[in-house]
Amino acid sequence: MAFPTSRHPSSYCLAAGNPGAWTGPGNNTYLFDGEEPTLLDAGVGHQAHVDAVAAHLNGRALVRILVTHGHPDHASGVPALRARWPNLKAFKWLDQPGPGVTADSWSPLADGERVRAGDIWLTTIHTPGHAADHVCFWETDSRELYCGDMMTATTTILIPPASRGGSLKAYLASLHRLAALQPDTSWPGHGPVIDAPVRRIQEYLTHRAEREREVLACLEDGVTGLDEIVSRVYVETPQNLWPAARLTVEALFEKLHEEGRL
Ligand SMILES: [Zn+2]
Repeated sequence: MAFPTSRHPSSYCLAAGNPGAWTGPGNNTYLFDGEEPTLLDAGVGHQAHVDAVAAHLNGRALVRILVTHGHPDHASGVPALRARWPNLKAFKWLDQPGPGVTADSWSPLADGERVRAGDIWLTTIHTPGHAADHVCFWETDSRELYCGDMMTATTTILIPPASRGGSLKAYLASLHRLAALQPDTSWPGHGPVIDAPVRRIQEYLTHRAEREREVLACLEDGVTGLDEIVSRVYVETPQNLWPAARLTVEALFEKLHEEGRL
């Protein structure tokens, strides 16, 4: 399934075709057609996805791929795309290459760097937190933000502990940075478009502050084990999501440590 994104008649959202427990309806990838055809996020290399990109380009080559971060659902499709377009250049943030990513197969992105996508320019914004190598892409003229896994319209974002590349402190700082841009629209890596991203960011900040208060209340009551805290704070969350909640509480502990509050 493909649909045009609102402001740019030659940009399209193409589904990567990988629905699942962690990816929801599957990943969104964004194709910018024009002078330098560019794909934003790679998907996982499903043939139907590669074919959909090719059908839109109608014989012309994909020249560039930008990935928001190295998680496999966003980056692992690069080899399949390269198999189709051998001269394709792939770009990502390179401080911490993700699993299965070798640095020599990527070109680096820098914070504030402008990159060509179709006929427009996108600005790279380093937004660590969900992953250390996470970036968003910002289009100043249309005030559109391509936000990867920074937010979705319908769910919260998993922030893993440092051992898995996450940082809650960095994530909150990244959310503040994105809010300061005052985006009008945000296109996420998963799920539908976010029509009021600044309000969405505020909801996320409020939610995280509430969770922090709840976890601190547990500690005050002498409940200190991770599993005990999860079963108390996430009592309304389905139990199959508790392992993810456990990682989130771990990341919160790390934030409280960093702030000298534990
Ligand atoms: Zn991710």
